[in-house]
Amino acid sequence: MPDATVCNPGDPVVGAWGFRSYREHLADRFPGIRVRKLCLHAGFTCPNLDGTRGLGGCAYCDNRAFAPGVDRRRDLARQWDDGRHWLRRRHRRVDGFIAYFQSFSNTYGDPAELATLYDQVPDWDECLGISLGTRPDCLDDAVLDYLEDLGRRTFLTVEIGLQSDRDAVLERINRGHDVALFTDTVRRSAGRGFELCVHLMLGLPGEGDDAPERLGALAASLPIASVKLHNLHIVRDTALAREFHQGLIREPTRANYLDGARRFLACLRPDQAVQRIIADAPPHLLLGAPWCRDKQGFLADVRTAVDSERELVAPV
Ligand code: SF4
Repeated sequence: MPDATVCNPGDPVVGAWGFRSYREHLADRFPGIRVRKLCLHAGFTCPNLDGTRGLGGCAYCDNRAFAPGVDRRRDLARQWDDGRHWLRRRHRRVDGFIAYFQSFSNTYGDPAELATLYDQVPDWDECLGISLGTRPDCLDDAVLDYLEDLGRRTFLTVEIGLQSDRDAVLERINRGHDVALFTDTVRRSAGRGFELCVHLMLGLPGEGDDAPERLGALAASLPIASVKLHNLHIVRDTALAREFHQGLIREPTRANYLDGARRFLACLRPDQAVQRIIADAPPHLLLGAPWCRDKQGFLADVRTAVDSERELVAPV
């Protein structure tokens, strides 16, 4: 298996969107195969919720907003079968799936516990890989050793949440870790044969006007294969929802976020893929303006914005 954590800036692969989409990334990895990510619940909690790091979690967090269609009471193999049937009904063509453990912190356990859950996954029907969402404080060296071993058996991506490159912002949103821990974790993870993805957010209080450029430059400086950029959106019953009701915080407008996303994308390396550029929540959980529910419309506008910028800077 090629070492996918080592990105190759000498191989520009900017696609039809003006940036490298994750679909293009997977098409290079699995030629001729249409891949979908399939959400599963492994049953973990999070050190920022259970008191190990903090209580109450990140200020924006409500795990009900993640993968709301997944029945977490079912065992993993049943969730896999349910998910495959659901995705096949929804999409005209699906040839294989990546098992995506999104909610909570999916490496929050010792290597033996992780092996009990994840060793079975590469053997499931139509499984092409595993993607694990987690936090930098759930990736000690023993866990990374296990993930390196798992990555020899399947296409593995580890998605690490950071959200902001400013410690003051991370403290403000109660992340329970600082930026240095994230960068140290990325460096300890590099070269172990699995891909890294970083989760970042625009619109957080205190991020600063140049947050898109700073976040893009940070991602581009690290051995990260893909990014997920989220717009701040306020989810009901979270700490940020209370601030929202008190008028202490505002969401970015669609126009502001569109501009920030465009500027962020311009800073990435051409080999870095974009897994997500807009996030939403189920309508009954979402406070504030519902513009983020129109993902396709937003993506079309991102494409137009990126194309316009490229025309402006293109050599004549
Ligand atoms: S790390 Fe993730 S699961 Fe844990 S509190 Fe923050 S957003 Fe929620």
